Amino acid sequence: MRAVALGVFLCLAAIAAHAETPPAPQAKSIAKDVWLIPGGFLPDRQPDGNTVIFDGPKGLIVMDTGRHLWQRQAILDFAKAHHKPIAAIVNSHWHLDHVSGNPDLKRAYPGAKVFASNAIDDALTGFLARSAKGAEDYLKSGDVPADTAEDIRNDIATWKNGAALKPDVVVSKSATRTIAGKSLQVNLAPNAATDGDVWVYDPASKVVATGDLVTLPAPFLDTACPKGWSDALGKVEATPFVTAIPGHGAPMTRADIATYHKAFDAFIACAASDRDAKECAEGWAKDAGALLGSDEATQKKAKGMAMYYAKDVLRAHGGKSAECKA
Ligand SMILES: [Zn+2]
Repeated sequence: MRAVALGVFLCLAAIAAHAETPPAPQAKSIAKDVWLIPGGFLPDRQPDGNTVIFDGPKGLIVMDTGRHLWQRQAILDFAKAHHKPIAAIVNSHWHLDHVSGNPDLKRAYPGAKVFASNAIDDALTGFLARSAKGAEDYLKSGDVPADTAEDIRNDIATWKNGAALKPDVVVSKSATRTIAGKSLQVNLAPNAATDGDVWVYDPASKVVATGDLVTLPAPFLDTACPKGWSDALGKVEATPFVTAIPGHGAPMTRADIATYHKAFDAFIACAASDRDAKECAEGWAKDAGALLGSDEATQKKAKGMAMYYAKDVLRAHGGKSAECKA
């Protein structure tokens, strides 16, 4: 199997189908002053992470800016429709499905400051540089669907302009911060889905935005330290949240997050055992079944991704991703 980096450059788990024009993502109200612009995962395309917008007294706080033009356009359209400037951007982590819109949003709103961990510094010269090389080779093979090729070329351009993705304010610890006049708990999860994940709890709405600490149809383990990731899920659960917005997928309840955490731990334990990888993948789909729904294609995708992560990521690197330094 060709090396894949889900949500970063290549995702073979995306099931090939005919190209189609994506529908513009629509903002949904989640709670008072909290909105979700859903990310997508279209056939032949790389994913977009969810965008969460907190409406602060002095402007909008945008958590994650997607990969594709249509995701960032939806964010700009939202700001315009609500007659509010984008005052700040929070990046949950450096994967390109979460940060690629940063430069365009900053161009439109030069006062917007980016809050993120500094994990992107190593990623730009390490993981993303290697992924770009692999992606260029893949493009040269000629055997790439047109939409996938377009995504890869855009990702390479985003990486080359990587300095523009970096934070203005480095999140180096968990703390309550006032951003755009709004009080938010901005938390750092070291050694989780990446070396430095940021997740946000809003005490006013009791909404928690987890970034890729929670992703469906499977945990995206490409750059993960499973132990730190599980610890971070415990910290999310320790907040009195009512609604959780994952990095990918629909809003979740407390029971959903508990189910996810349990399924995550069971999957990691299975991958660390000598059980068949197929058994681990089926276990994931079963344990997370209530979150995946009954759609057969989603179930299949969940199993395919879990199989890849068990075999080619976790087992290939002693129970963690090759990127995990912990
Ligand atoms: Zn993602």
